[in-house]
Amino acid sequence: MITRRKTRQIHVGNVAVGGDAPITVQSMTTTKTADVDGTLAQVYALAGAGADIVRITCNEVEAAQGLAEIVPRSPVPIIADIHYQYRLALAALEAGVHGLRLNPGNIRKEDQIKSVAREAKDRGVPIRVGVNAGSLDKDLLDKYGSPVPQALVDSALIEIRYLQDVDFEDIKISVKHSNVPSMIESYRLLSETVDYPLHLGVTEAGPPPAGLIKSVAGIATLLNDGIGDTIRFSLTADPVEEAKAGRQLLENLGLRERKGLDLIACPSCGRAEVDVIAVATQAQTALEAENLPIQVAVMGCVVNGPGEAREADIGIAAGRGRGHLFIKGQVVRVVPESEMVEALLDEARKLVEEGVESRLAHAEAHAAEIAAAARDELIQIQGDANRSQDRRARVAEIARSD
Ligand code: SF4
Repeated sequence: MITRRKTRQIHVGNVAVGGDAPITVQSMTTTKTADVDGTLAQVYALAGAGADIVRITCNEVEAAQGLAEIVPRSPVPIIADIHYQYRLALAALEAGVHGLRLNPGNIRKEDQIKSVAREAKDRGVPIRVGVNAGSLDKDLLDKYGSPVPQALVDSALIEIRYLQDVDFEDIKISVKHSNVPSMIESYRLLSETVDYPLHLGVTEAGPPPAGLIKSVAGIATLLNDGIGDTIRFSLTADPVEEAKAGRQLLENLGLRERKGLDLIACPSCGRAEVDVIAVATQAQTALEAENLPIQVAVMGCVVNGPGEAREADIGIAAGRGRGHLFIKGQVVRVVPESEMVEALLDEARKLVEEGVESRLAHAEAHAAEIAAAARDELIQIQGDANRSQDRRARVAEIARSD
């Protein structure tokens, strides 16, 4: 059970961030903001994949104009990402954005920051102080020699003071670093210093799988410490993957309710009666298209599959040319192996519609006995684990052949 650090709560549009609000997922569009329809299509895709808030760059006048059309049609709150030109922050506010991200390393003039804060305050719009190790304030880089955690935190604190000077408190903060231990240390340091909500991320994490691993290592470590109120995976990939990954991480940590599919699959072993990777991939594709909020198990053999995956809502295990469908570990249906993915999909739909008790009540007569017989037969055939006797004989036969 994770105990979250207490933070103030702010609102990005209708989404609460911090305090006791659920931890939110963010992502960022990669389209040109001036392309209103293209950007909106991506915003919808990101929202569908689990993003609660979407950030969009506001890097030119045409982008700010695009925001004026995008924001009213967006299904989720929109944050404008601002670098260098404070006037674009003012323009984005006029366009109706629900939040701003200011990079202290790129907008450094106090009067400009304060003028944005006054306007944001009048409109009730929060600001993220988005410090990034790669674009740290030059004075701090000179002072510390490199973007060490204390330098990132100092940058955030300087910016916060400017905001507080004009009574602006709707603040959240990020101190992103591409080096995971430095990122973790920066956020830990920051969380000891302020009680504003924190936006977590490993910057420039790169393409998956390495980018995913770095992001999970940094973000999950902090979440497990109770630090973090909103997260973003910064992947060099389709941003839909970022949103999915963020959502899945929170669901796996028990910090958000499951919204979509959770597919578990055994790693396969010598007992497998089917190509587990192929079946799991087919099942994932078919089930993801339906986006059913259940945990589904794909198991390579009926010897251990139903038992090992008894916590899953539904699953399938192969054996003796058949697929054994099970619900909460109890086998309810047996189908030819070639039909197992289709049957799994059909049963999954019914399970979501009718519930566990109803589907267990509809279990096929003898399904459990057929599965038990297949299991016993396999144990007889395989003997000790992984058919070692058969394999030894076959190895000897090959070794002795001419
Ligand atoms: S024993 Fe069966 S369920 Fe377990 S890993 Fe091997 S094939 Fe998969």
